[in-house]
Amino acid sequence: MSSAGAGVQRDQAKLPERCLSDGAPPNAPGGDNMTDEPRSKVKILLVDDTPDNLVSLEAALEGLGEELVFAASGREALRHLLHHEFAAVLLDVKMPDMDGFETAQMIRNRPRSRGTPILFLTGYRNEEHLFRGYDLGAVDFLFKPIVPEILRSKVAVFVELSRTSHLLREQAAILTRQTEELQKTEVRFRSLLEAAPDAMIICRPEGAIDLVNSRTETLFGYSREDLIGRNIHVLVPEWMMDSEMTAGRALDRELTAVRRDGSTFPVDVRLSPVPAEDGLLITSAIRDISERKRAEEERRRVEEEIRELNVHLEERVLARTESLLESNEELAQFAHVASHDLQEPVRTVSLYAQLLAKRYKGRLDAEGEQFIGSIVKHATRMEDLIRDILHYSKLDGRKTDHFSVTNCDSALDEALAALRLRIEDTGAVVTRTPLPSVLGDGVQLTSLFQNLIINAIKYRSERLPRICISNRLAGKEWILSVSDNGIGIEPQYCDKIFGIFKRLDPRTENSGNGMGLAICKKIVARHGGRIWVESIVGQGSTFNFTLPKR
Ligand code: ADP
Repeated sequence: MSSAGAGVQRDQAKLPERCLSDGAPPNAPGGDNMTDEPRSKVKILLVDDTPDNLVSLEAALEGLGEELVFAASGREALRHLLHHEFAAVLLDVKMPDMDGFETAQMIRNRPRSRGTPILFLTGYRNEEHLFRGYDLGAVDFLFKPIVPEILRSKVAVFVELSRTSHLLREQAAILTRQTEELQKTEVRFRSLLEAAPDAMIICRPEGAIDLVNSRTETLFGYSREDLIGRNIHVLVPEWMMDSEMTAGRALDRELTAVRRDGSTFPVDVRLSPVPAEDGLLITSAIRDISERKRAEEERRRVEEEIRELNVHLEERVLARTESLLESNEELAQFAHVASHDLQEPVRTVSLYAQLLAKRYKGRLDAEGEQFIGSIVKHATRMEDLIRDILHYSKLDGRKTDHFSVTNCDSALDEALAALRLRIEDTGAVVTRTPLPSVLGDGVQLTSLFQNLIINAIKYRSERLPRICISNRLAGKEWILSVSDNGIGIEPQYCDKIFGIFKRLDPRTENSGNGMGLAICKKIVARHGGRIWVESIVGQGSTFNFTLPKR
């Protein structure tokens, strides 16, 4: 065949779109027919110096629907091969300048086109040609005149081959990427596993160990190699799967683990199922809880000790309370009996002293008169003292079941009536607000008012005594107050004065025996209330006491 540059030019001009494939991505001869995307065309290079031959090749291959690229010479073919990948090259053997064999040689020499299938087109069935052609890597020979069907079916095979190999290359690339990703994930997974504070063991549902971390080695005393493939029961004999786990749920259990040396220790085992390609895998996170158990044991022991101590203490408090109650009772009885029995002889002494003073008045010298006077005075004081002690001890003996609805106003009336003379003598001004009715003992409440009012008069200042008895409601109780404008009490004594025999200035004329406020306190307490004083020295005092609202 002869060179036909003009023909080629004509061809190139005639088939511009099919030949101008530079815009298409290189290495993309075919498409992935596994997707639904339309198949991209593969390129077939047709090399012949005779334009008519190229036209008949085009006519034969048009039906394939692929992209046909034309070259009128070996050199032009090589140029195309530089830029594109072809599913097959149909190469005319006899061409001027560079024949088909030389061109094939060059094609094979280039790495990029080394594997491109070459089909020689020749008019001669010449064995030498065949050998040379096959030697140069030809995949087939087509003899002219070309039979279009044969040509088409042969080229179709290479087109398919090209598509398949492209697909394979793509899949291989995807696989490589996935493998790299997997490797990275595995590295991350392993470093996480290693960093875990617990022993991490991955095993099969029946217990065969696949993977362990280094914490497992230190915790159990085995090496990794010792453990891989062995059953996890070696480490945790009670380890077992559960129906809940097969349902994909994690489980948490306290079990006993065994070290390599046979020693055991308590562990917390958290199992989580992980579905894998080849079945279910179980991740066991095993935490040594010896310390926690010891602490719990210690806490239990201490709690038990405290409980025992408490029981013991309660028993002791009970016994002590009983004995205190007993001795209180005895003391109260003693005080009652003593004061009761003392009352009679003291009264007799007092009476005889008074009789003596009366009968022998003027018959004794001054000193004798003074002695008798002293006896009378002290005997009277002792009488008062004994009366108050008796009164106080009687309060203890009396139960509260006789309490009835008592009008505080009436109790106050009686107290004021009993103190009428004193009030008049001192010119005291008494004011009052209405008082409530409470559940109580009228006699005791009268005595309470009486004691407080007597004190208000007794401890008056230079001013005219002003006494006010008032009442207010505070929640569930009444607060009753007896206030005066007397001498007042220094703050440090405000609590002490409620004790038995507590007096602030025993030498004063007015001072009594220190039992008045102790009796008040006892009366208020027996009525379920409290008593306290608020006072400013020189200005006066307010004695407050509460009584429960009915
Ligand atoms: P006494 O028999 O001494 O009055 P009380 O128990 O009634 O005993 O009072 C104890 C002490 O409290 C009194 O000695 C007195 O010093 C002081 N006191 C009681 N009431 C008042 C008051 N209204 N004002 C000032 N001081 C008081």
